[in-house]
Amino acid sequence: MSNIPSILVGFGYDIHRLERGKRLVLCGVEIESDYGTIAHSDGDVALHALTDAILGAIGGGDIGELFPDTDPANAGRASRDFVEKAISLANEKRYELVNIDITIVLEKPKILPFKPVMLAMLSHITQLPRERCSVKATTNESVGFIGRGEGVAAMVSCLLSAIE
Ligand code: MG
Repeated sequence: MSNIPSILVGFGYDIHRLERGKRLVLCGVEIESDYGTIAHSDGDVALHALTDAILGAIGGGDIGELFPDTDPANAGRASRDFVEKAISLANEKRYELVNIDITIVLEKPKILPFKPVMLAMLSHITQLPRERCSVKATTNESVGFIGRGEGVAAMVSCLLSAIE
């Protein structure tokens, strides 16, 4: 038997363009904002990056392979479906989430007031205790297209361990 530790780390990244009048959904929570994401699904960059982080940990491909944006079934779809599918694929491989760490890069609005409800939603979606979920937010210091308010990005790392 291999003595490689039964833990897997994953990383995911996503970005979407912003447009006036669209919905802005982050971590499964609708954010009050004049600008929202241009996307085929609900455009939740945080949950898309989380899906890719989980898929990355298990070597399960990426969100675009599993849920093509050419498939009408994915139009306007709630991104929690993608996360739940990635978790079920991990569980099939006998791995479970240990923690998730999300960083959102967005010029405005400020994410801080939404963090408690985001953490509650992430805990609900992933079935992790709230203290195993982390959401951090930063602006891009007015630099580049995110800094000009033209886009929103998210980066996520996660850890999985073998189910005993
Ligand atoms: Mg995306």
